[in-house]
Amino acid sequence: MENRDYMIRATAGNAMVRGFAVTSRNLVDEARKIHSLSPICAAALGRLMSGALMMGDMLKGDKDALTINVEGDGPIGGLLVTVNNKGQVKGYVKNNAVVLPNNEAGHLNVGGAVGNGTLTVIRDLGLKDPYVGTIQLLSGEIADDLTCYFVESEQIPSSVGLGVLVNKDFSVMEAGGFIVQLMPGATEDVISKLEQNIQNMKSVTDILRDGKTPEDLLGMALDGLDMEITDKMPVEYHCGCDKDRVERALVLLGKDELKSLAEDGEDIEIKCQFCQKAYTFSPKDLKEMQLRAK
Ligand code: ZN
Repeated sequence: MENRDYMIRATAGNAMVRGFAVTSRNLVDEARKIHSLSPICAAALGRLMSGALMMGDMLKGDKDALTINVEGDGPIGGLLVTVNNKGQVKGYVKNNAVVLPNNEAGHLNVGGAVGNGTLTVIRDLGLKDPYVGTIQLLSGEIADDLTCYFVESEQIPSSVGLGVLVNKDFSVMEAGGFIVQLMPGATEDVISKLEQNIQNMKSVTDILRDGKTPEDLLGMALDGLDMEITDKMPVEYHCGCDKDRVERALVLLGKDELKSLAEDGEDIEIKCQFCQKAYTFSPKDLKEMQLRAK
């Protein structure tokens, strides 16, 4: 299917506000197919990937990467998403088959599937140590939790809205969201207008159901604030794994472990967690790797 997923960036209120919005139906559906996700799992991972893509757009360097790790006590068992600043995202959930009744609002119960726990954002900016920020999950609904992360960990007042709609046949109907943030020096007028706009918005899920675009989403959030769209880029699910990378990870198992695997005398198959691609290593490969292992 043609990839219609894209992300926009905008500025508003004399640069006192910035905004991001994304439509991500194709890439969320691709993740659903790769990982055989139940509707709740597709919604949870889809929301996190959509939020992460917009956060990736905030990264400056071409080699910068951002990883979000959600660990909760709910049945999904945790989610992990990695993104770069080129609009490429990948991710997985620990348990892909979670089924729960809808919540009171009639939506997929993502909060119930995630449970209580933590959300950690790791920003790798190519420096010696990555920036790591962890917060307690607010609701497990992902958007609330990312809002909380921005306020607590980065001290940026933000509003995050995310949504994923799933068809009866479990395919993804719509996915997307927005982030708006106040920049330093925002005036009371701008803040109250923004708050009013956000309050008047329907849920992202409901807005997506009406077939709205990222431009529409930001248009609602930034109404009356002279929004100017400054960037638009395609976004996609992209893994980028290869045999060398998997081999380097295997070497980290150490000499003893590799030796015992080689002595089993059978090929081993390693599956990439992000794209499920299988890589096969023969006992001969494993022996050769022992020479490079510690
Ligand atoms: Zn892969």
